Amino acid sequence: MLPRSRQFDVIIAGASFAGLAVAQRLVGRRVVLLDRAPVGRGVTSACGAPVSIVNAMGAEGSILQVHDRLILHTPAGEAVWPLPEPFCTFDYQRFCELAWARARVEFLQATVAGRSGSTVHTSLGAAFSGTLLADATGWRAALAAAPGSAYVNRRWMAFGIESEVVCPHEPGLHFYFLPEVRDGYAWAFPAGEGVRFGVLSYLGRSKLGPALEQFMSRFGQRPAAVHGGFLASGLRPPVVDGVFIAGDASGHCLPLTGEGIRTAVLAGFECGDLLRQVLDGERTRDQAEATYQAFVAKSRRKFHALTWANLAVLALPRRAVASVATMLARPRVLGPLLAQYLNLFEKSATRPGATLPAHSGRL
Ligand SMILES: Cc1cc2nc3c(=O)[nH]c(=O)nc-3n(C[C@H](O)[C@H](O)[C@H](O)COP(=O)(O)OP(=O)(O)OC[C@H]3O[C@@H](n4cnc5c(N)ncnc54)[C@H](O)[C@@H]3O)c2cc1C
Repeated sequence: MLPRSRQFDVIIAGASFAGLAVAQRLVGRRVVLLDRAPVGRGVTSACGAPVSIVNAMGAEGSILQVHDRLILHTPAGEAVWPLPEPFCTFDYQRFCELAWARARVEFLQATVAGRSGSTVHTSLGAAFSGTLLADATGWRAALAAAPGSAYVNRRWMAFGIESEVVCPHEPGLHFYFLPEVRDGYAWAFPAGEGVRFGVLSYLGRSKLGPALEQFMSRFGQRPAAVHGGFLASGLRPPVVDGVFIAGDASGHCLPLTGEGIRTAVLAGFECGDLLRQVLDGERTRDQAEATYQAFVAKSRRKFHALTWANLAVLALPRRAVASVATMLARPRVLGPLLAQYLNLFEKSATRPGATLPAHSGRL
């Protein structure tokens, strides 16, 4: 059913990680969350993320298994990387339902079809107006890249697919650098009784079915239902034509690792905080745009470093990847490296009134 009023303080397109995080910071405002699918449907991800991020979204009830290490497998051997903070695998649908319950904003199942100024056109035939707009529609960037927009949706995109089957597996988050995905990696993430087996091509190859079959056959398994999609990693301008953009829609998924849940949630929180401050008259819209741009820019060098590391993994022979993984496993090297990696998109402590969030992932 269509809402009585079509005028909102904020319209958020996309009800996944980034969109739900934006919404949680706007409790009590007149907000509508639009998604082409019901909340929690259409999972694409393996759903491995820091426990602190899942907790920060109020979704601890979705956690299936907690992990304290990464295990990197190559044909030459394996390297174990203890994690400085626990990660977990969680149930996507439950995560979204819990996160949405906390956000307490209106949800409407509708596909964003375009935008003119602050008016959003949808598949329902109805248009909605928002004082402020946020795009969290993943790699499609449906709102920011609407026809006529200045946003150019061209960036480096990886592609991944996965399938979950019930079988036993050694705990930890397992990454495999094997011949079946020479331009990427494979993974096995235990999640309670199931294991999520997946393959990813850094080059965005989408015909990955045979590679997934070959990878799973190493464990005596065959793919069941398969899901997946693009991972958008090349940072894009975070605000375009006044639209605030968070998560994959702005290329916030990390190169090399393909980790995009943490960054989507943290960018979503920042974005939501700023939009709320604009509505409350604490900042002008221009100030909010500048602050959000600065928030993203602070991590730009790390994104670049990860991009270079990604290119190195593509260029190096697997044997060399194995040597590097083993060398980096030394505690004195790994500790600072992971600390740098995990404080990406940390909230600025220098902003007036800002406090470091509980989910900051500091070591
Ligand atoms: C196979 C695979 C495995 C992955 N595993 C992990 C992992 O284990 N850990 C990790 O951190 N990251 C992982 N990632 C990356 C991670 O899933 C993404 O970075 C993350 O989902 C981005 O979140 P988001 O909210 O920006 O976008 P998305 O999660 O992509 O959500 C976009 C939302 O927008 C909606 N939408 C799209 N177009 C429209 C439209 N026109 N109108 C209305 N709604 C629309 C979609 O229905 C969806 O709900 C994986 C990705 C893939 C493909």
